[in-house]
Amino acid sequence: MIARKTMVAGNWKMNGSLALVEQLADAINNVKSSEIDIVLFPPFPLVSAMIASGVTTGTQTVSENTPGAFTGEVDAQLIKELGAQYVLVGHSERRSIYHESNDTVAAKFARAQQVGLTPILCVGESETEQANGETEQVVAAQLDAVIDKLGVAALKDSVIAYEPVWAIGTGKTASPEQAQHVHKFIRDKIAKLNSDLAQGLTILYGGSVNEKNSELLFAQTDIDGGLIGGASLKADSFTAICNSAKGTV
Ligand code: PEP
Repeated sequence: MIARKTMVAGNWKMNGSLALVEQLADAINNVKSSEIDIVLFPPFPLVSAMIASGVTTGTQTVSENTPGAFTGEVDAQLIKELGAQYVLVGHSERRSIYHESNDTVAAKFARAQQVGLTPILCVGESETEQANGETEQVVAAQLDAVIDKLGVAALKDSVIAYEPVWAIGTGKTASPEQAQHVHKFIRDKIAKLNSDLAQGLTILYGGSVNEKNSELLFAQTDIDGGLIGGASLKADSFTAICNSAKGTV
């Protein structure tokens, strides 16, 4: 059995402040452990402060382009130079509000890896897609966009986050069984192409995770940690979630 790294990642979205960086960094530095990777994704202006505070840091998006005339965009190489290590690609808010297609997400994934950043590829179905029984089809297409462009080997240096859109910010968490089912589907799909890679791949669950439901979710065989939105803005909740991920490897 190949050991997988457990991760708890916090997506601040368009929230946070310098004061909150300090508060969360103090709390995280107290619960850090070799058992889990803890990563925060603050808005761009807080990235340097987060890195300086000693917390492993990622960005919430990245440009798919190389430097040039792209006003408002941020280049992957610059993110890397600052000392960030991860980047979220394909978060459902980027897909729905900013109309990022599967192809764009795959291009961002490629650009992140080109400079040595680790992409966290977010996948997940909408409420309607779930109601129509299309979860596996939607998630497969989101994964295939990356696999078709870059080959399955590209997933080796990445993390996948399964985030059902209906569970993000709604308080409606997938049940541990529901989430495990989709995580297993993802791992089995990748295992058909490369079994060792699939066994070693960290797959996070995201969608209204809090300190009350994290332990049962993280205890599932194919759930290797969480991508946390709202609860990552509260030091007590986030550190409790981090602690619940310890010992689940
Ligand atoms: C997210 O933003 O990726 C997320 C999962 O948010 P929340 O935990 O608030 O549902």
